[in-house]
Amino acid sequence: MALARLPQIEQLHLADVTLPESHPRAGEPCPVFAFLIPHPDGYVLVDTGVGEGHKGIETLYSPQVHPLAAELEARDVSSADIIAIINTHLHFDHCGENRQFPSTPIYVQRAEHEAAQAPLYSIREWIDFEGADYQLLNGESEVAPGVATIPTPGHTPGHQSVVIDSEEGRVIIAGQAVYSADEWTGAATPTNEWDDAQYKASLESLRRLRPDRVYFSHDPLVWECS
Ligand SMILES: [Zn+2]
Repeated sequence: MALARLPQIEQLHLADVTLPESHPRAGEPCPVFAFLIPHPDGYVLVDTGVGEGHKGIETLYSPQVHPLAAELEARDVSSADIIAIINTHLHFDHCGENRQFPSTPIYVQRAEHEAAQAPLYSIREWIDFEGADYQLLNGESEVAPGVATIPTPGHTPGHQSVVIDSEEGRVIIAGQAVYSADEWTGAATPTNEWDDAQYKASLESLRRLRPDRVYFSHDPLVWECS
């Protein structure tokens, strides 16, 4: 099922982190984006940014957080308006404020939820909280009419991207399946992912969907089909 109109998706700039010593791009700043999809039934929120108050994350990444609650309030959106959350994956900078949404369904791939059980994969208390309502997916799934998730493993074992179909066009929220607009166009080459071969295959599968617009979790640039 497709939406009648192409929704005006909001990029929420939730944090800037500094990449740590262990990272191939150590020392570089990295913005963190989440996405708000207006829907006839409410809003679908894709990712929830970096949580606050974790010493290890603060030491390693020096996050400058723009609180999700304030970003939503600035858009006149309350947490009760969020009908569903999609986590592209469960790294700390994508699920940090899931805790604000007890009893809201959170859609994540089963493979990702399993991977996140490993020590140091993420921040346990940002994922597991009282009232958490994880809906574990085994592949493609329509989360709301016109809003679907598709597995795009490579950055992590259970990464997923979001495809929004309307009669006016198709939008993809790639998440971190594609790091940047330059990777999308082929101007930059991806390296050092959990599984480079799967990452490249996922990138190709997203390109085959021939979207009109693509958003990225860590690049402010939005790619548009010209
Ligand atoms: Zn990640």
